[in-house]
Amino acid sequence: MKLAARLGEITPSLTLAVDTKAKAMKREGIDVISFSVGEPDFETPAHIKAAAKTALEQGKTRYGPVAGEPGLREAIANKLQSDNQLCYASENVIVTNGGKHSLYNLMMVLLDPGDEVVIPAPYWVSYPEMVKLAGGVPVVVSTTIDSGFKISPDQLRQAITPNTKLFILNSPSNPTGMVYTPEEIRALAEVVVEKEIWVVSDEIYEKILYDGAEHLSIGAVSPEAYDRTIISSGFAKTYAMTGWRVGFLAAPLPIIKAASMIQGHSTSNVCTFSQYGAIAAYESSQDCVKEMVQAFADRRQLMLEYLHSIPEITCPKPNGAFYMFPNISKTGMKSLDFSNTLLEKYQVATVPGIAFGADDCVRLSYATHSDNIHKGMARFVEFVQSLV
Ligand code: GLU
Repeated sequence: MKLAARLGEITPSLTLAVDTKAKAMKREGIDVISFSVGEPDFETPAHIKAAAKTALEQGKTRYGPVAGEPGLREAIANKLQSDNQLCYASENVIVTNGGKHSLYNLMMVLLDPGDEVVIPAPYWVSYPEMVKLAGGVPVVVSTTIDSGFKISPDQLRQAITPNTKLFILNSPSNPTGMVYTPEEIRALAEVVVEKEIWVVSDEIYEKILYDGAEHLSIGAVSPEAYDRTIISSGFAKTYAMTGWRVGFLAAPLPIIKAASMIQGHSTSNVCTFSQYGAIAAYESSQDCVKEMVQAFADRRQLMLEYLHSIPEITCPKPNGAFYMFPNISKTGMKSLDFSNTLLEKYQVATVPGIAFGADDCVRLSYATHSDNIHKGMARFVEFVQSLV
Protein backbone atom coordinates (compact mmCIF):
# COMPACT_ATOMS: atom_id res chain seq x y z
CA MET A 1 0.00 0.00 0.00
CA LYS A 2 1.31 3.46 -0.82
CA LEU A 3 1.03 5.76 2.16
CA ALA A 4 1.45 9.52 2.05
CA ALA A 5 4.98 10.72 1.42
CA ARG A 6 4.96 12.74 4.65
CA LEU A 7 5.21 9.48 6.59
CA GLY A 8 8.38 8.50 4.76
CA GLU A 9 10.85 9.67 7.37
CA ILE A 10 8.74 9.37 10.48
CA THR A 11 9.72 6.83 13.11
CA PRO A 12 7.28 5.47 15.74
CA SER A 13 7.39 6.95 19.26
CA LEU A 14 9.83 4.74 21.18
CA THR A 15 8.62 6.00 24.59
CA LEU A 16 5.18 4.63 23.82
CA ALA A 17 6.50 1.52 22.03
CA VAL A 18 8.60 0.42 25.03
CA ASP A 19 5.70 1.13 27.38
CA THR A 20 3.37 -0.98 25.24
CA LYS A 21 5.88 -3.83 25.17
CA ALA A 22 6.46 -3.70 28.96
CA LYS A 23 2.70 -3.67 29.62
CA ALA A 24 2.17 -6.62 27.25
CA MET A 25 4.89 -8.58 29.08
CA LYS A 26 3.19 -7.80 32.41
CA ARG A 27 -0.13 -9.06 31.05
CA GLU A 28 1.62 -12.32 30.18
CA GLY A 29 2.54 -12.63 33.86
CA ILE A 30 6.20 -11.58 33.44
CA ASP A 31 7.57 -9.62 36.40
CA VAL A 32 8.61 -6.50 34.47
CA ILE A 33 9.86 -3.36 36.20
CA SER A 34 9.19 -0.39 33.99
CA PHE A 35 11.33 2.72 34.02
CA SER A 36 10.11 3.51 30.53
CA VAL A 37 7.25 5.90 29.98
CA GLY A 38 7.16 9.23 31.81
CA GLU A 39 3.94 8.63 33.70
CA PRO A 40 3.46 9.38 37.41
CA ASP A 41 2.23 6.26 39.22
CA PHE A 42 0.04 8.33 41.57
CA GLU A 43 -3.72 8.47 41.36
CA THR A 44 -5.09 11.77 40.09
CA PRO A 45 -5.86 13.74 43.30
CA ALA A 46 -9.37 13.11 44.63
CA HIS A 47 -10.59 16.72 44.37
CA ILE A 48 -9.73 16.78 40.66
CA LYS A 49 -11.61 13.55 40.05
CA ALA A 50 -14.55 14.88 42.08
CA ALA A 51 -14.74 18.03 39.94
CA ALA A 52 -14.84 15.94 36.75
CA LYS A 53 -17.51 13.65 38.25
CA THR A 54 -19.63 16.65 39.18
CA ALA A 55 -19.23 17.99 35.65
CA LEU A 56 -20.39 14.63 34.29
CA GLU A 57 -23.40 14.62 36.59
CA GLN A 58 -24.22 18.18 35.57
CA GLY A 59 -24.35 17.09 31.95
CA LYS A 60 -21.08 18.61 30.77
CA THR A 61 -21.02 15.88 28.18
CA ARG A 62 -21.69 17.76 24.97
CA TYR A 63 -19.62 19.61 22.41
CA GLY A 64 -17.93 22.62 23.92
CA PRO A 65 -16.07 25.58 22.46
CA VAL A 66 -13.22 24.35 20.23
CA ALA A 67 -10.58 26.42 22.04
CA GLY A 68 -11.68 25.19 25.46
CA GLU A 69 -14.16 25.88 28.26
CA PRO A 70 -14.03 29.60 29.09
CA GLY A 71 -13.45 28.81 32.79
CA LEU A 72 -10.40 26.71 31.98
CA ARG A 73 -8.90 29.24 29.57
CA GLU A 74 -9.28 31.83 32.30
CA ALA A 75 -7.78 29.56 34.97
CA ILE A 76 -4.77 28.94 32.70
CA ALA A 77 -4.33 32.67 32.00
CA ASN A 78 -4.49 33.37 35.75
CA LYS A 79 -1.95 30.67 36.48
CA LEU A 80 0.45 32.01 33.83
CA GLN A 81 0.17 35.43 35.41
CA SER A 82 0.63 34.38 39.01
CA ASP A 83 3.18 31.58 38.59
CA ASN A 84 5.12 32.73 35.53
CA GLN A 85 4.64 36.51 35.33
CA LEU A 86 3.22 36.12 31.84
CA CYS A 87 0.33 38.36 30.95
CA TYR A 88 -2.11 36.55 28.68
CA ALA A 89 -5.84 37.12 28.23
CA SER A 90 -7.93 33.96 28.13
CA GLU A 91 -8.26 34.54 24.35
CA ASN A 92 -4.51 33.93 24.13
CA VAL A 93 -4.97 30.38 25.42
CA ILE A 94 -6.15 27.27 23.61
CA VAL A 95 -6.92 24.01 25.42
CA THR A 96 -5.53 20.98 23.60
CA ASN A 97 -5.47 17.20 23.92
CA GLY A 98 -2.32 17.23 26.02
CA GLY A 99 1.09 18.86 25.66
CA LYS A 100 1.92 16.68 22.68
CA HIS A 101 -1.10 17.96 20.80
CA SER A 102 -0.23 21.57 21.69
CA LEU A 103 3.14 21.18 20.04
CA TYR A 104 1.74 19.38 17.03
CA ASN A 105 -0.82 22.16 16.54
CA LEU A 106 1.95 24.72 16.78
CA MET A 107 4.08 23.04 14.10
CA MET A 108 1.06 22.94 11.81
CA VAL A 109 0.40 26.63 12.46
CA LEU A 110 3.94 27.94 12.08
CA LEU A 111 5.86 25.81 9.60
CA ASP A 112 6.02 26.03 5.85
CA PRO A 113 7.97 23.43 3.87
CA GLY A 114 11.67 24.01 4.40
CA ASP A 115 11.31 26.07 7.57
CA GLU A 116 14.00 25.11 10.05
CA VAL A 117 13.46 24.36 13.71
CA VAL A 118 16.41 24.32 16.12
CA ILE A 119 16.17 21.40 18.54
CA PRO A 120 18.84 20.84 21.19
CA ALA A 121 19.71 17.16 21.65
CA PRO A 122 19.02 15.17 23.77
CA TYR A 123 15.45 16.08 22.83
CA TRP A 124 12.06 14.61 23.55
CA VAL A 125 11.37 11.89 21.00
CA SER A 126 8.43 13.58 19.27
CA TYR A 127 9.92 17.02 18.53
CA PRO A 128 11.75 16.20 15.29
CA GLU A 129 8.95 13.95 14.06
CA MET A 130 6.32 16.65 14.59
CA VAL A 131 8.47 19.15 12.73
CA LYS A 132 8.82 16.73 9.81
CA LEU A 133 5.10 15.92 9.79
CA ALA A 134 4.45 19.64 9.35
CA GLY A 135 6.93 19.82 6.46
CA GLY A 136 9.67 21.54 8.47
CA VAL A 137 13.32 20.64 8.85
CA PRO A 138 14.67 19.70 12.29
CA VAL A 139 18.10 21.23 12.93
CA VAL A 140 19.50 19.17 15.78
CA VAL A 141 22.19 20.76 17.94
CA SER A 142 24.02 18.22 20.09
CA THR A 143 24.88 19.07 23.67
CA THR A 144 27.13 17.14 26.01
CA ILE A 145 27.13 15.92 29.56
CA ASP A 146 29.84 18.55 30.30
CA SER A 147 27.53 21.41 29.44
CA GLY A 148 24.77 19.82 31.53
CA PHE A 149 23.09 18.81 28.26
CA LYS A 150 22.20 22.45 27.66
CA ILE A 151 22.49 24.46 24.46
CA SER A 152 24.67 27.56 24.78
CA PRO A 153 23.70 30.94 23.30
CA ASP A 154 26.59 30.58 20.82
CA GLN A 155 25.43 27.17 19.70
CA LEU A 156 21.93 28.55 19.18
CA ARG A 157 23.24 31.56 17.26
CA GLN A 158 25.33 29.36 14.99
CA ALA A 159 22.43 27.03 14.23
CA ILE A 160 20.21 29.86 13.04
CA THR A 161 19.98 30.47 9.29
CA PRO A 162 17.68 32.69 7.23
CA ASN A 163 15.29 29.70 7.15
CA THR A 164 15.03 29.32 10.93
CA LYS A 165 11.52 29.80 12.20
CA LEU A 166 11.49 28.28 15.65
CA PHE A 167 13.62 27.13 18.56
CA ILE A 168 12.29 24.43 20.90
CA LEU A 169 13.27 24.97 24.52
CA ASN A 170 12.37 22.37 27.13
CA SER A 171 13.26 23.04 30.74
CA PRO A 172 13.12 20.99 32.92
CA SER A 173 14.19 18.64 30.19
CA ASN A 174 12.84 15.32 29.07
CA PRO A 175 15.00 13.16 28.82
CA THR A 176 17.89 14.64 30.84
CA GLY A 177 16.09 16.21 33.81
CA MET A 178 18.31 19.29 33.51
CA VAL A 179 16.97 22.75 34.31
CA TYR A 180 18.28 25.93 32.67
CA THR A 181 19.14 28.60 35.23
CA PRO A 182 17.43 32.00 34.95
CA GLU A 183 20.73 33.48 33.64
CA GLU A 184 20.94 30.81 30.94
CA ILE A 185 17.33 31.48 29.93
CA ARG A 186 18.03 35.22 29.72
CA ALA A 187 21.04 34.61 27.50
CA LEU A 188 19.02 32.39 25.15
CA ALA A 189 16.22 34.99 25.05
CA GLU A 190 18.71 37.56 23.82
CA VAL A 191 19.56 35.38 20.81
CA VAL A 192 15.88 34.72 20.05
CA VAL A 193 15.15 38.44 20.06
CA GLU A 194 18.30 39.41 18.15
CA LYS A 195 17.68 36.79 15.45
CA GLU A 196 13.93 37.42 15.30
CA ILE A 197 12.88 33.79 15.54
CA TRP A 198 10.07 32.16 17.55
CA VAL A 199 10.69 30.11 20.66
CA VAL A 200 8.32 27.51 22.00
CA SER A 201 8.89 26.87 25.66
CA ASP A 202 7.73 23.38 26.61
CA GLU A 203 7.07 23.82 30.33
CA ILE A 204 5.30 20.55 31.06
CA TYR A 205 7.73 19.73 33.93
CA GLU A 206 7.98 23.26 35.38
CA LYS A 207 6.69 22.26 38.82
CA ILE A 208 8.94 19.23 39.20
CA LEU A 209 12.11 20.83 40.53
CA TYR A 210 14.71 19.82 43.13
CA ASP A 211 17.62 21.27 45.08
CA GLY A 212 16.25 24.82 44.87
CA ALA A 213 16.24 24.86 41.05
CA GLU A 214 14.24 27.75 39.64
CA HIS A 215 12.04 27.79 36.57
CA LEU A 216 12.04 31.01 34.55
CA SER A 217 9.74 31.16 31.57
CA ILE A 218 11.61 32.66 28.61
CA GLY A 219 8.58 34.83 27.83
CA ALA A 220 8.98 36.58 31.17
CA VAL A 221 12.52 37.77 30.39
CA SER A 222 11.50 40.94 28.52
CA PRO A 223 8.60 42.35 26.48
CA GLU A 224 10.63 41.59 23.33
CA ALA A 225 11.09 37.95 24.37
CA TYR A 226 7.40 37.70 25.32
CA ASP A 227 6.45 38.76 21.77
CA ARG A 228 8.44 35.85 20.33
CA THR A 229 7.37 33.18 22.85
CA ILE A 230 4.79 30.44 22.73
CA ILE A 231 4.11 28.48 25.91
CA SER A 232 3.21 24.81 25.70
CA SER A 233 2.21 22.89 28.78
CA GLY A 234 -0.41 20.62 30.30
CA PHE A 235 -1.73 18.86 33.39
CA ALA A 236 -0.45 15.31 32.88
CA LYS A 237 2.83 15.34 34.76
CA THR A 238 2.08 17.84 37.54
CA TYR A 239 -1.28 16.42 38.57
CA ALA A 240 -0.91 12.77 37.53
CA MET A 241 -3.47 13.29 34.76
CA THR A 242 -1.78 11.54 31.84
CA GLY A 243 -4.95 9.86 30.58
CA TRP A 244 -7.13 12.95 30.86
CA ARG A 245 -5.50 14.57 27.83
CA VAL A 246 -5.55 18.24 28.76
CA GLY A 247 -2.82 20.61 27.65
CA PHE A 248 -2.61 24.14 26.36
CA LEU A 249 -0.80 26.70 24.25
CA ALA A 250 -0.51 30.35 25.21
CA ALA A 251 0.60 32.66 22.43
CA PRO A 252 -0.14 35.78 20.40
CA LEU A 253 -3.72 35.82 19.09
CA PRO A 254 -3.04 34.90 15.43
CA ILE A 255 -1.39 31.66 16.57
CA ILE A 256 -4.26 30.77 18.90
CA LYS A 257 -6.84 31.58 16.24
CA ALA A 258 -5.01 29.43 13.69
CA ALA A 259 -4.63 26.55 16.17
CA SER A 260 -8.38 26.79 16.92
CA MET A 261 -9.12 26.57 13.23
CA ILE A 262 -7.00 23.42 12.98
CA GLN A 263 -8.74 21.91 16.01
CA GLY A 264 -12.09 22.92 14.52
CA HIS A 265 -11.35 20.66 11.57
CA SER A 266 -9.53 17.90 13.41
CA THR A 267 -10.31 17.24 17.08
CA SER A 268 -12.99 19.78 18.12
CA ASN A 269 -13.01 20.42 21.88
CA VAL A 270 -11.01 18.48 24.44
CA CYS A 271 -13.15 16.08 26.51
CA THR A 272 -15.50 18.47 28.33
CA PHE A 273 -15.51 16.91 31.79
CA SER A 274 -11.72 16.45 31.73
CA GLN A 275 -11.51 20.22 31.40
CA TYR A 276 -13.50 20.67 34.61
CA GLY A 277 -11.01 18.44 36.39
CA ALA A 278 -8.25 20.67 35.04
CA ILE A 279 -9.97 23.80 36.37
CA ALA A 280 -10.02 22.20 39.83
CA ALA A 281 -6.33 21.32 39.46
CA TYR A 282 -5.36 24.96 38.99
CA GLU A 283 -7.91 26.57 41.29
CA SER A 284 -7.50 24.32 44.35
CA SER A 285 -4.69 23.86 46.86
CA GLN A 286 -1.34 22.88 45.34
CA ASP A 287 -0.43 20.66 48.31
CA CYS A 288 -0.92 17.54 46.19
CA VAL A 289 1.80 18.78 43.84
CA LYS A 290 4.19 19.36 46.74
CA GLU A 291 3.57 15.83 48.02
CA MET A 292 4.19 14.24 44.63
CA VAL A 293 7.33 16.30 44.05
CA GLN A 294 8.66 15.25 47.46
CA ALA A 295 8.07 11.61 46.55
CA PHE A 296 9.87 12.13 43.22
CA ALA A 297 12.77 13.75 45.08
CA ASP A 298 13.15 10.68 47.33
CA ARG A 299 12.97 8.34 44.37
CA ARG A 300 15.52 10.41 42.49
CA GLN A 301 17.94 10.02 45.37
CA LEU A 302 17.38 6.29 45.50
CA MET A 303 17.87 5.70 41.79
CA LEU A 304 20.92 7.90 41.73
CA GLU A 305 22.54 5.90 44.55
CA TYR A 306 22.23 2.75 42.49
CA LEU A 307 23.56 4.42 39.34
CA HIS A 308 26.49 6.02 41.13
CA SER A 309 27.42 2.65 42.63
CA ILE A 310 28.33 1.45 39.12
CA PRO A 311 31.80 2.70 38.11
CA GLU A 312 31.10 2.18 34.40
CA ILE A 313 28.04 4.42 34.42
CA THR A 314 28.14 8.22 34.41
CA CYS A 315 24.97 10.02 35.35
CA PRO A 316 24.63 13.71 36.14
CA LYS A 317 22.27 14.59 38.99
CA PRO A 318 19.11 15.94 37.40
CA ASN A 319 17.40 18.85 39.11
CA GLY A 320 14.01 18.59 37.43
CA ALA A 321 11.41 16.30 35.81
CA PHE A 322 11.55 12.58 36.72
CA TYR A 323 14.16 11.12 34.42
CA MET A 324 17.75 9.94 34.69
CA PHE A 325 19.87 9.88 31.58
CA PRO A 326 22.94 7.75 32.32
CA ASN A 327 25.75 7.30 29.83
CA ILE A 328 26.26 3.60 29.09
CA SER A 329 29.09 3.82 26.54
CA LYS A 330 31.61 2.06 28.81
CA THR A 331 29.52 -1.10 28.60
CA GLY A 332 30.43 -1.24 24.91
CA MET A 333 26.77 -1.34 23.92
CA LYS A 334 24.68 1.11 21.98
CA SER A 335 21.39 2.17 23.48
CA LEU A 336 18.94 -0.01 21.52
CA ASP A 337 20.93 -3.12 22.18
CA PHE A 338 21.36 -2.18 25.84
CA SER A 339 17.66 -1.50 26.42
CA ASN A 340 16.47 -4.55 24.49
CA THR A 341 18.84 -6.93 26.27
CA LEU A 342 18.01 -5.42 29.67
CA LEU A 343 14.32 -5.92 29.00
CA GLU A 344 14.60 -9.42 27.62
CA LYS A 345 17.14 -10.84 30.06
CA TYR A 346 16.43 -8.86 33.24
CA GLN A 347 12.85 -7.66 32.65
CA VAL A 348 13.66 -3.98 33.19
CA ALA A 349 12.20 -1.51 30.69
CA THR A 350 14.13 1.65 29.78
CA VAL A 351 14.00 3.89 26.72
CA PRO A 352 17.06 3.78 24.44
CA GLY A 353 18.82 7.12 24.15
CA ILE A 354 18.74 6.90 20.37
CA ALA A 355 15.08 7.93 20.61
CA PHE A 356 16.29 11.22 22.08
CA GLY A 357 19.25 11.73 19.75
CA ALA A 358 21.85 10.34 22.20
CA ASP A 359 22.83 6.77 21.44
CA ASP A 360 25.32 6.55 24.34
CA CYS A 361 22.61 6.95 26.95
CA VAL A 362 19.41 5.33 28.14
CA ARG A 363 16.49 7.04 29.85
CA LEU A 364 15.06 5.83 33.13
CA SER A 365 11.86 7.28 34.53
CA TYR A 366 11.66 7.23 38.32
CA ALA A 367 7.96 8.10 38.41
CA THR A 368 7.41 4.72 40.00
CA HIS A 369 7.25 3.32 43.54
CA SER A 370 10.50 3.01 45.49
CA ASP A 371 9.97 -0.76 45.81
CA ASN A 372 10.13 -0.95 42.02
CA ILE A 373 13.23 1.22 42.00
CA HIS A 374 14.99 -1.11 44.46
CA LYS A 375 14.01 -4.19 42.52
CA GLY A 376 14.62 -2.80 39.03
CA MET A 377 17.89 -1.07 39.87
CA ALA A 378 19.30 -4.20 41.54
CA ARG A 379 18.68 -5.94 38.21
CA PHE A 380 20.15 -2.99 36.30
CA VAL A 381 23.36 -3.17 38.37
CA GLU A 382 23.58 -6.93 37.83
CA PHE A 383 23.13 -6.45 34.09
CA VAL A 384 25.88 -3.85 33.79
CA GLN A 385 28.21 -6.00 35.90
CA SER A 386 27.59 -8.88 33.52
CA LEU A 387 28.80 -6.70 30.62
CA VAL A 388 32.07 -5.32 31.98
N1 GLU B 1 6.18 12.31 27.48
C1 GLU B 1 6.24 11.04 28.14
C2 GLU B 1 7.57 10.36 27.89
O1 GLU B 1 8.46 10.92 27.31
C3 GLU B 1 5.06 10.19 27.75
C4 GLU B 1 5.20 9.40 26.50
C5 GLU B 1 5.23 10.26 25.29
O2 GLU B 1 4.23 10.89 25.04
O3 GLU B 1 6.28 10.30 24.66
O4 GLU B 1 7.73 9.26 28.33
